[in-house]
Amino acid sequence: MGAKPAPRSPSSGPSASRPITSASGVCCWCEDYQGEISVNASNRYSRRIVDGQAEGGGRQRRYLLQVLLKSRRIRVVMRYKVVGFGSTAAEHIQLAERELVSGVASWNGKITIEIDDPECGKQQLPVEFEAPLVSSGQHYTVELFQTVPSSLDSGRPHVTGDFKMRVDWETRAWTFSHEHGHCFGLPDEYGYSNEAAEQIVYIRPDGGSDPPIDIDALGTAGSGPDVTIMSTHSQHRRRVRHGYCIAIEVQQLLTRRLGRTIRCKVVRPPT
Ligand SMILES: [Zn+2]
Repeated sequence: MGAKPAPRSPSSGPSASRPITSASGVCCWCEDYQGEISVNASNRYSRRIVDGQAEGGGRQRRYLLQVLLKSRRIRVVMRYKVVGFGSTAAEHIQLAERELVSGVASWNGKITIEIDDPECGKQQLPVEFEAPLVSSGQHYTVELFQTVPSSLDSGRPHVTGDFKMRVDWETRAWTFSHEHGHCFGLPDEYGYSNEAAEQIVYIRPDGGSDPPIDIDALGTAGSGPDVTIMSTHSQHRRRVRHGYCIAIEVQQLLTRRLGRTIRCKVVRPPT
């Protein structure tokens, strides 16, 4: 099933390349928009509940969001700079860069967002992910170690609250893919503690919340049908909820720039 066509006025032609004009004279899907996103993902995209209490804390996230209405695409651009520590050599950096780009590309084709414009109708736009490797002006610095020091978080690959991704020489595409999910706002979907009951609540673009997910039941060793890229090593499944954070930002950007209330929802992958 394709997208429903946007309403057309008599002044618009059948050709997809021609602008569509709404009944009130608005030129629809005529402009591209972009904005730098810089937000605290905690309580904006999801809440972590530990023993019934919502956790606070900051998870600052940033990237460039491009909403390309003319070509019907959404692009999430994350500029990365890879920096080697200790005895990290150029070959380690090159390998990490390759794996990083491959991990980011694994998100392509996984999320589609439907934009509902009261003037122009609905369009479904796939989300593309790009990871330009830069030497300055990065959104995230990838710190590459032989082994992530145990003094830094758990000593495993992770993303910090202040725009650092820490990885080691053995980090491969799957892990970069998971960590990239953090960089645009996703939480871990596994429990951190054996003692506490942990849940994640995702916030939808319509402002409501999904039912809490019992993440203790997923976990790093999980294998059931609910495990995802954010819960379990080597799993690649994405859910609709993994696109909410981008839909929230697209909705806000378009509402601000178009001056009318735009609603977004995630239509792919199916629930
Ligand atoms: Zn993680």
